[in-house]
Amino acid sequence: MKTHKVIMCKYCGRHSVTQSSITFKCSYCNKTCKMLKENEAGIAVNIKYQTDSGSMASKVCAELNLPKELRK
Ligand SMILES: [Zn+2]
Repeated sequence: MKTHKVIMCKYCGRHSVTQSSITFKCSYCNKTCKMLKENEAGIAVNIKYQTDSGSMASKVCAELNLPKELRK
């Protein structure tokens, strides 16, 4: 099971890693999003990447947070 998720914050656009499957709290702006199922209403989180490796999730997250001009 892929427990580490890289999620893009709907509010500030930064990416954070979470292992939760219920809520996501942005470590940059401290806003909380619910992880909605497809038929639920509300603001859903934007899951960019999922992996079972914590170090891989951190790496992907760090790359997604780089300014576009610095990405390879
Ligand atoms: Zn945020």
